Amino acid sequence: MMKPEAAELHTTGPHPDFALAETPRRSLWDTVLAQLDDVAERLRLDPGIHAILRRPERELSVAVPVQLDDGQIEVFTGYRVQHSSARGPCKGGIRYHPEVDLNEVRALAALMTWKCAVVGLPYGGAKGGVQCDPRQLSNNEICRLTRRFTAMILPILGPRRDIPAPDVNTNPQVMAWIADTVSMLEGRSVMEIVTGKPVALGGSLGRHEATGRGLAIITAEVLRRLNRTPSGTRVAVQGYGNVGATAATLLHEMGCRIVAVSDVSGGVYDAAGLDVAGLNRYVDAQPGHLLEGYQAPGVDRISNDELLTSAVDVLIPAALEHQIRADNAPSVQAGVIVEGANGPTTREADEILRDRNAIVVPDILANAGGVIVSYLEWVQDLQSYFWDEPDVNHRLNTIMVRSFNEVWEYSQHRQVPLRLGATMLAVDRVATAIGTRGLFP
Ligand code: NAD
Repeated sequence: MMKPEAAELHTTGPHPDFALAETPRRSLWDTVLAQLDDVAERLRLDPGIHAILRRPERELSVAVPVQLDDGQIEVFTGYRVQHSSARGPCKGGIRYHPEVDLNEVRALAALMTWKCAVVGLPYGGAKGGVQCDPRQLSNNEICRLTRRFTAMILPILGPRRDIPAPDVNTNPQVMAWIADTVSMLEGRSVMEIVTGKPVALGGSLGRHEATGRGLAIITAEVLRRLNRTPSGTRVAVQGYGNVGATAATLLHEMGCRIVAVSDVSGGVYDAAGLDVAGLNRYVDAQPGHLLEGYQAPGVDRISNDELLTSAVDVLIPAALEHQIRADNAPSVQAGVIVEGANGPTTREADEILRDRNAIVVPDILANAGGVIVSYLEWVQDLQSYFWDEPDVNHRLNTIMVRSFNEVWEYSQHRQVPLRLGATMLAVDRVATAIGTRGLFP
């Protein structure tokens, strides 16, 4: 069976975790709750509001029957969890992966609540998923699975209720099938039910590059806070996919020296700075879009571990979770780490980096560019009026810079690292919304 295009988007692993998730025997949901408890204590959160935030608002579990290409019926388990709608409609991706389970979806939904709150979007958090192995399914099977799953969770979806988006192993095509299914069932066009759609169906210009662009914006802001200019700043990027390659390209345009990049095939290094345009041309021309085989004068091959510990000022992990760990963190030379991937730094590594006074910009802030442009897509869809790409990028820039400055000031004021500060700020905002709305009835 053909591997569907759908598998090409976020295929970087089963756990785009929050960075504090580390102990394998502890579920991500336990980790999210432990962190919430810690933050609640620091904020002296009202115990009632703390109790509300410890439980997702609504959980839907569905058994999704799908007729496979050989005529047999297989029943898949799917979930949609809405953690909080206190700040607005719920927002969060849908993933297709064999390891999807209810606790993982709960945890990812709560992290979406924090992520939307930390960048000030008028959204709560949700997540969905279907336990399946998309590599074993044909494109037609994935289409049927998507349509049936959509119909089964539709009672709790809606442009003003809950707006899904792509996540691991789902992509703009899957979003198009969701939007079409809802439109057929409701007898009207409901494209604004999902974001991350193809541009032809009301997707936003700039959405594809948004996460990498957000990382570049944040990196420039950190450098500004350190009284440094991008010019000559040495940068290493792990993961030369959508997020990593966009960030590297934009930082290079700002004047940074991109000295090392890597992907699943290994890395390349040039202390004098890589030819990023040449790299992009090479990767685009390769069938697997990999760096493997790239050669240029002055360029050495390095391993992914060597990349993480190379002599750079800024390190951008944009591949997988749990890449910076207790074993390699002491050798990380970068003074600034900007997390593109979800959960690239383990809890122990985080402490090691903190002791070294490294600045770690956490994933919930650093990689929020994607959900920010999803929000901009939703706004454009609701008003049926679309902005050109510079307009979208300008709005993304405004929200990212404002959010970074708010987290920076908040963390400085409380003398906590950015990761803790970002989560405290987010929880505080959600708690304020709950308190201000009051309890119904
Ligand atoms: P992608 O599939 O386009 O790129 C992933 C890159 O990582 C590829 O270059 C791949 O070769 C590389 N990679 C895989 N295994 C590796 C390994 N062991 N060592 C080094 N490199 C490896 O995915 P993406 O969309 O760029 O996402 C990257 C990360 O960012 C993921 O963790 C994803 O969850 C996270 N993220 C993505 C978005 C988004 O909008 N795309 C938003 C938020 C977070």
